[in-house]
Amino acid sequence: MFPKKFDYYSPKTISEAIGLIDELKDAKVLAGGQSLLPMMKLRLATPAALIDLSNINGELGSIVQDKSSVEIGAMARIAELAKSKAVQKSLPALYDASLVIADTQVRNMGTIGGNLANADPNNDMPVVALALNAKMEVRNKNGKRLESADGFFVGPYTTKIAENELLTKIIFPVEHGRFGSAYSRIERRIGDYALAAAATSIKLESSGKVTDARIAVAGISMNAIRLEAVEKALIGAKPDQKTTNEITLKTVKDIDVEDSYYATASTKRMAVAYAVQKSLDKVYERAKAKK
Ligand SMILES: Cc1cc2nc3c(=O)[nH]c(=O)nc-3n(C[C@H](O)[C@H](O)[C@H](O)COP(=O)(O)OP(=O)(O)OC[C@H]3O[C@@H](n4cnc5c(N)ncnc54)[C@H](O)[C@@H]3O)c2cc1C
Repeated sequence: MFPKKFDYYSPKTISEAIGLIDELKDAKVLAGGQSLLPMMKLRLATPAALIDLSNINGELGSIVQDKSSVEIGAMARIAELAKSKAVQKSLPALYDASLVIADTQVRNMGTIGGNLANADPNNDMPVVALALNAKMEVRNKNGKRLESADGFFVGPYTTKIAENELLTKIIFPVEHGRFGSAYSRIERRIGDYALAAAATSIKLESSGKVTDARIAVAGISMNAIRLEAVEKALIGAKPDQKTTNEITLKTVKDIDVEDSYYATASTKRMAVAYAVQKSLDKVYERAKAKK
């Protein structure tokens, strides 16, 4: 099906784009188009205007690293994250995810900002942003603010970005010492969304005990969520595979999970526990390898 007729705008600067979103009625910004265009073709979205961000050069697509953070422009393509040395070295969970989301075509077009702003419950970037304690820079005509990943995902397809606002940058803190992050997912089928996904980040003390942990999952709720009970259970422990798997299964047992076309609730719970375990296995190896 063809989309409904729409006006097309191609701003050259961030402020021009913000001016347009503020001024136009019923407009949507277009990033990689990998979610928005299929929705328009199915007439699930019928915006009167599209504001294409792809001709805005500079910070909207850049990846900049300093000692304490990696700042990634919202229009950085998923494929570019997978090629970035800064992402590979400092944000391994983001790097892992960028290699496996969808297929090459989708990764070449899809952007980190579009993935986060879309907040599809099955998207992988929200999970990574939560586990890595990212901050989102959101701008409107009055200025900018930072939103923490915790609380940013308000519901399915809903975030703290208002209709007249733009997500411009994602800021990931860079931790030093025995810190690691990792991401794992169980595929529904090759090239498709995950049935379950987990991103973890941990800090270890020299003895190998966990001093801090963040674990986020997708696949069992209408949002990416943190498994705080599992995080707490890990602190102070040197947990083995069997223990963490048991803790995760126990934690997700209390979450209200619905059967779906793809899997029953109990299969989803097991898939999430398995994704957490796979991610933890990787993250321990990575954190232990650090001095
Ligand atoms: C076949 C297929 C398989 C896929 N599999 C996966 C998968 O396994 N995992 C996964 O995570 N994703 C998957 N996706 C989704 C893909 O990653 C999308 O690219 C992503 O969800 C949206 O990013 P985009 O840049 O294409 O955004 P668009 O489709 O252009 O935009 C999506 C929404 O976000 C809004 N938006 C975009 N950028 C901004 C911004 N900077 N500020 C404010 N609002 C903004 C748009 O207005 C729109 O409402 C898949 C897509 C396809 C087609």
